[in-house]
Order: sequence, then structure tokens, then C-alpha cells
Amino acid sequence: MKEQLKRLRELQYIDLELDGFRKVKGEIVERIEENKGFLSKLIVDLEKQKEEFEEIKSLQRSKSDDLTYIKEQHDKRKKRLHNVGSAKEFNAVEKEIEGLKRSIGQTEEELQHMNEVIQSTQDAIADKESKVVQLQKSIAAEEAASADQIQKADDDIERLKARESEARGEVSKRVLHRYDFIRNRREGLAVVAAKDGYCEACYMAVPAQEFIMIQRGTTLCSCPHCQCILYFWEEAIGEPGGPSADA
Ligand SMILES: [Zn+2]
Repeated sequence: MKEQLKRLRELQYIDLELDGFRKVKGEIVERIEENKGFLSKLIVDLEKQKEEFEEIKSLQRSKSDDLTYIKEQHDKRKKRLHNVGSAKEFNAVEKEIEGLKRSIGQTEEELQHMNEVIQSTQDAIADKESKVVQLQKSIAAEEAASADQIQKADDDIERLKARESEARGEVSKRVLHRYDFIRNRREGLAVVAAKDGYCEACYMAVPAQEFIMIQRGTTLCSCPHCQCILYFWEEAIGEPGGPSADA
């Protein structure tokens, strides 16, 4: 079992390294994806605002036609005022003119308000458009800059995967099954030293009887508290975290 535990430790060193490279790559990809998501949201907003802009432009055109029509009506009435036959008719036409004047004032006010909305919408569109361009540039730059990092991580992952499958071949199926099960549950750490009677993963004391078994290294022992597979620390001479080889 001592030999199996040694192989298992080797496997774990490889797997932890693999986890590290996968994490690095994952973070890069995630950051780019996040910015891409932000960009597509910005583009959707921009398109919506452009539609709104077109709508209000068309409303403005029809309002402007209304104004022309009302003004024409107003001028016609003004001319008629010179040719009316009676005072009654004069009063009626004058009333109409008053009404049309009010209408002109109101329509001009509405048009003024529309122009303001059009201006502010135009500004917002220009602002979003420049943000889109900026973001596209920064994403492209980030992708270019991280392409090498991703490639390197991929190469490292490939190289380690080959070593991983080799190392897995050295460990029995039963032990591997246990190892994988614990690794899945404990964010990568499955094989841990028992040092001075304590588990190095959860820092709880290992029962004395269990510790003796670990020292002997004849059976596969787990920490009763955190379930990690335990090995005797003194066995891991020269390994990462183990006793120094020259001591
Ligand atoms: Zn433990």
C-alpha cells in the first residue's frame, strides 16, 4: 500500500497542477466572455435606441406637416377676413383665426420638445456607438493578448494529461475510485499527510489506532473527520510539503 500511496501522491501533484492551469485558462476565457456579454447587451440597447430615434423622427415629420397645414388654414382665413359680407361672418372667421393661432403655438411647442428629445437621443446613440467601438477594440486586444496564454495553458494541460493517465495506470481501480470520489467533493485535495497525529487537511487529531495503521502503510486509511486519504508524512521525503531529502 505504501507504493500505491506514493503513486497516488504523484497523481495528485499532477492533478493539482492541472487544476491550476485549467483555472488560469478558465479565468481568461471567463473574463473575455463577460466582456462579450456586456458588448452584446450594449448593441441590443443601441439598436433599440435607434428604433426609438426613427419613431420620433417620423412623428416629428408628421407633426411638421400638421403645422404647415394649420398655417395654410390660418393664412386662408386671414385673406377671407378682407372679403366677408357681414359682421357676424367677420366674427366667426376671426374666432377661427384665434383658434388656429393657438393650434400653431401648441404645435410649435410640441415640435420644440420633439427636437430636444431627438437631440438627446442622438447624443445617447453617438455615446453608445463609441462605447461599442471601444469595447470591440479592447476585446480584440484582450483576445490577442491572451491567445498566447491560452495556448500555453492548453499545451501544459495536454502535457500533464498524458502524465496523468500514465500515473493513473499505476494505481489500482479501487484506490482510484476512492481518490476521484474525494477529489470531487473536496475541491481537488484527496491525499493528505498525517503529521504528528494530525490530518493536514482538516487539522483534526487522527485516532491513535488509525495513526498506527497509517504509519504501517499496509491499508488505505481515511481521516475520520474530512474523509481524505491519509499517508504518513515521514514517507513523503523530498516530495512537496514532505520532509526535506537532506535531513
Ligand atoms: Zn482530515
